[in-house]
Amino acid sequence: MQDHQLYQQILGIAAPWHVERVELCLEGGEVHVYLDHDPLANWACLECGTPSPLYDHDEKRCWRHLDTCQYRTILHAQAPRTRCGKHGVRVVRVPWAEPHSHFTALFERLAIDWLQAASQQAVADRLGLSWDEVHGIMQRAVRRGLARREREMIGYLGVDEKSFRKGHKYLTVVSDLSRGRVLYVAEDRKQSSLDGFWPTLTEEQKAWIQGVALDMWDPYVRSLRAHLPQAEEKMVFDKFHVSKHLGEAVDKVRRQEHKELRAEGDERLKGTKFDWLKGRDRFDLGEWREFCRLRRSNLRTSRAWALKEQAMKLWDFKYPKAAQNHFAWWYRWAAHSRLAPMIEKAKMLKNHLQNILTYLIHKITNATSESINSKIQWIKYTARGFRNVDNLKNAIYFHCGDLDLVPRPT
Ligand SMILES: [Zn+2]
Repeated sequence: MQDHQLYQQILGIAAPWHVERVELCLEGGEVHVYLDHDPLANWACLECGTPSPLYDHDEKRCWRHLDTCQYRTILHAQAPRTRCGKHGVRVVRVPWAEPHSHFTALFERLAIDWLQAASQQAVADRLGLSWDEVHGIMQRAVRRGLARREREMIGYLGVDEKSFRKGHKYLTVVSDLSRGRVLYVAEDRKQSSLDGFWPTLTEEQKAWIQGVALDMWDPYVRSLRAHLPQAEEKMVFDKFHVSKHLGEAVDKVRRQEHKELRAEGDERLKGTKFDWLKGRDRFDLGEWREFCRLRRSNLRTSRAWALKEQAMKLWDFKYPKAAQNHFAWWYRWAAHSRLAPMIEKAKMLKNHLQNILTYLIHKITNATSESINSKIQWIKYTARGFRNVDNLKNAIYFHCGDLDLVPRPT
């Protein structure tokens, strides 16, 4: 078998295309495969597929293909241009690559497989790709995947903000809680950030949504009210977001009290910051016993901690009425606690209570999408190449969108 026939078979090149010649460049470590086509009366128009006559040829182009035994392999061809009655002169689609790509479909497929498992840096190094090339491959993959996404009915959504660049910038991430995948990513955490999501749904899809887990964040609330039918019954303020708020208040109380105690030479609260914030399951037995002595003392911090613990019991109730009674009792206690940070958070919970208790109906939190959160952490961690926010958004769709990303050679 001659080398050009071999490549024809390896590349899966079929008529009217054929391998014209193969050049091996030993010093450069490259194989150059030159493709040509048989004279053909008609070619399919890129836009509409109508068979149209050959007009002329596009300029010479090359595509990187899968390596041949470690030799970088480059395809060369001049794509024909057709003149379609409707669309005018267009370059035809070549069977080995998607339009505008400098890689063959098989190469992109390999790069996508690798990118799903390894960091962009590692893939760029191993495949000899630039950052721009890696981002281009990911961008095309995401565009392909989003275009292929079907209009499914989704029952439960999560809306979450993600910080990046050391908390100076935010993204709004909408996820499908039942399937643990990201549906939408937008810059910032304004109402307009979330507003952009709703037009991606049909009216039927919107009506199908049963519940949305979100932070107590007014811009998101406003967006839901503006776009989602019966939003009041569907909004569920996230349990862990409430817990975080109460934790902040406990920590404020602790800092203040520690300062005062310290002035009197009392170091009881020294080094205890995280003990007041972490859950029972994160202590070992010895640590827990020690912590119990502290929390049973008459410290203001231990009262704040007890308030937080009692507030979090709201999520364990079965019936909203019983939860409301618990809250009323708790609120009186908090309001009389003389702990300003707790009083402030208690007011906030009171104002948001209706949509905290919707949890008892829908049972959703944003922690449902824990796998998404950990993947986004990983993306941010390996994100040295994100010179702009679009690349970060793309990486989130790429890794968390559960999209069908790979190109299919025609
Ligand atoms: Zn056409």
